[in-house]
This record gives sequence, structure tokens and C-alpha cells, in this order.
Amino acid sequence: MSMDETNPWRNAEIRFDTAAEKLALDDGMQKILRKPARELTVHIPVTLDDGRLEVFTGFRVQHSIARGPAKGGIRYAPDVSLDEVRALASWMTWKCAVVGIPFGGGKGGVICDPNVMSNLELERLTRRYTAEIIDFIGPEKDVPAPDMNTNEQTMAWIMDTFSMHKRETTTAVVTGKPFHLGGSRGRPEATGRGCMTVILQALQKFGMKPEETTVVVQGFGNVGGMAAKLMSKIGIKIIAVIEVDGTVHNANGLDIPALAAHRAATGSILDFPGGENLTSEEGLFLKCDVLLPAAKENVITSQTAGKINPKILCEGANGPTTALADQILEDRNIFIIPDILANAGGVTVSYFEWVQDRQGYFWNEQLVNSRLEEIMIESFQDVVHYGESHKVNNRTAAYMLALDRVANAIRSRGIYA
Ligand code: GLU
Repeated sequence: MSMDETNPWRNAEIRFDTAAEKLALDDGMQKILRKPARELTVHIPVTLDDGRLEVFTGFRVQHSIARGPAKGGIRYAPDVSLDEVRALASWMTWKCAVVGIPFGGGKGGVICDPNVMSNLELERLTRRYTAEIIDFIGPEKDVPAPDMNTNEQTMAWIMDTFSMHKRETTTAVVTGKPFHLGGSRGRPEATGRGCMTVILQALQKFGMKPEETTVVVQGFGNVGGMAAKLMSKIGIKIIAVIEVDGTVHNANGLDIPALAAHRAATGSILDFPGGENLTSEEGLFLKCDVLLPAAKENVITSQTAGKINPKILCEGANGPTTALADQILEDRNIFIIPDILANAGGVTVSYFEWVQDRQGYFWNEQLVNSRLEEIMIESFQDVVHYGESHKVNNRTAAYMLALDRVANAIRSRGIYA
């Protein structure tokens, strides 16, 4: 596998070019949309617990603000790069456009290893990173949220730091906050719930019964863990969960709450009494109705796309499939629910959170969930119908729909000079 295949920005460009060409988007518009609008790199000094000073590198990229403020998470990981953050920012633009919420796309990242950092070090890092990007963000400018290795606590620190600088509490500057600080009901489950909704739509389309459906989930965190929990609750069989250290498998379906308790007690999903251990690879290649990669990028590649065995591939993670794998999956007739649709439930409830913060009026969980479901179902139908009528696969359909909506916004606004 080449470096190029696994470069998320290269993959984003290839998908963009395919959709732009099919849409016959004019050259100038392609030039605008192909590049992020703004990219900020910051160097973040942090005093570590042992008194040493360390300097971390962080990014915030705003791919587009054509349809509204930039929106997107912040991730902390050792392998964060500007190219990755660029790709993730552009996917946020397309994602918000696919589900029709009034945001552009942005993303942030800090190169660090949160596993070896204390809570106090993470707090200092987060506050100083926020201070470094403070002119870039704001409820009307750019609204961060959690992503890999960041969570409600991280968002609370960002909200507090921003509010202290502005001398007023500004809850709407970030989403994914704790409920008692202006967070939304249903936000923690939102991405997983959205995945379940689009999976149910796909099952319905193919006349498959949920209680006879088998699912393999990669990742047991916020997205995969929640989706597994919600799906098993309605009788869908989760036959395997894959994590970095291996797979737990049970052909009759895993008891997901018991598996979560086992992981909480032992630190791993492996050696679960209700299943057998397999390797991570063996898990990925199991025969199943639905494969839900909900962990990281570059899982389904030119090397693995020929070996996976689902009828439906629902991309819970951002960018789990490389552009080179797309053709292989299409030839194998695997029905894809692309990431910019499948995992849009998270940002959709982020939008609800932002609305609630600005109104100062909070909805109950039922209202959040029903509005989320409505948007996910409508967006699924839009993408599938668009694909069928334009004779393109679901991924290209989602990109075409999104590009068209963003291009329309730019045409109406015109170019400020
Ligand atoms: N990080 C999530 C994503 O990739 C959520 C972004 C948000 O809520 O703004 O979609």
C-alpha cells in the first residue's frame, strides 16, 4: 500500500474530483472548493507535571464557511498531520451539506499522545491551544466539537477558556459539552444512533429483517460502542466487535452491555466469556450483513477491500475506506453508506446543541432523537435516489449533492473582492 493511498487529503481530493467532474462543475468553482479556505498552525507551550516545558503542534483548518460557520471536531493523536486535518475539515463541509444543516466545515488537531499525559497536562494543553486559536473560533465563526481522544471535558475547558477571554459565558462556541454546561440531550449517542438509522433504512430497502441481521463493528468507542448498544437493543445481532488488540466473536450475537462491563473491568474486549477471541484481521473479514467500521481511517484499502464480506458497508468512522478501494467495492456490489452521510448524526445533534445554546431553551431527549431520525432518513433517501437517478454509487452521489449545495451558496453570495 502506498503512502499516497493512505493520505486522507489525497483521498479527499480524488473523491472531490470524481464528483466535480460528474457535476460538470465549472473550473473556477472547482478551484475554490478544492482547497481549504484557511489553515492555522500553532505551537503550544505546555508545562508538564515534572516541570519540563514541551511544545506541541496543533492545527485548525476551515475548509469552507460558505453555508455557515465552520463546524467540526478536534482530535488529539500522535499521528495528526495537516493533511489529515485538511481532509477531515473538507469532509465536515460535505457532511453538513449532505444533511442540510447550516454549517461549513472545519477540523482541528493536536499532535500529542493523550495516553501518556495526565489530566492536568491535557487541561493545560487544551487551554493554551484554545488561546492560540481564539481569534479563529466563535459561535458565528467556527464551532469545535469532540473527535478522537477528546470528549465532554475537553469541550468544557475550551468553553471556559474562550468565555474567560471574552468576559462572558459563551456556551455556543463548542458542542459536545456536558449537559449541565449547555450540552444537548442525546449528543453522546448521536453518531451511533445516526448509524443505526441509516442501517435500518438500508435493511428496509433490501427487505431484510433487523432481527435476522448480523453486524460486525470495528471500534467500541463513542461511535461503534453506542451503535452496537442501540442496535442490539432492538434485536440486531452484533456477531463481532473488533478493537486494536483483537476481535470478540459470537455467531449467535454478543451480549453488548455485558461486553462493555467486561471491558470496563479488564481493560480489553478479549477473553469475554460470551464469545471467542479472533485476531483483528479475522474479525474484519467475517461474513456478515453489515460491516460498521467505526474506528479510524484507511481500514478498507486496495489490500483488504477484496476480503471483507458484508452486503452493506456503513462508514461510522471518517475516511475508513481509501479511494483505491472504492472500485473494488463497487465491482463486488457492496452497498455503501458513505461516511459523510453515515456518521452525520453527531454533527446534526451538534447543530441542535448550538441552536439550543443560542435560544437558551433545551429540548427533551425524545425531541432530539426524533428530529435526528427525521434528518438521517431524509438524507439517506436523498443520497440513494440521487445515486439511482444519476447512475452513480452512493459515495459519489453524496459528494455530488454536497458539492452542488455548497457551490450554490457560493454562487448566491458571490465573491467578495
Ligand atoms: N467529530 C465529529 C465528526 O467528525 C463531530 C463533529 C461536530 O459535531 O462538529 O463528525
